[in-house]
Amino acid sequence: MEHRETTELSAVLEKDLEQALDALGVLEPLRAGQACCRFCRQTATLANLFGYYPDVEGVALVCDSPTCIRTLMDLLRTGDVKL
Ligand SMILES: [Zn+2]
Repeated sequence: MEHRETTELSAVLEKDLEQALDALGVLEPLRAGQACCRFCRQTATLANLFGYYPDVEGVALVCDSPTCIRTLMDLLRTGDVKL
């Protein structure tokens, strides 16, 4: 029961995320392998996407590599990036 609820919740979150990414115009590039991480320039996909934030160029995508997550956290802490 508990496991099932968790699974349903993450499915909903995933759907919301895809809708949000679609609204930002980055869902298709992510699916097509044409998006890249703002920090390391590695190909960003739905599988390795850690997060995203709005910036001057539109939407910055951040992959889930430890270095990029740390960079994002640093930017959030210093207030250079606001989600
Ligand atoms: Zn990265």
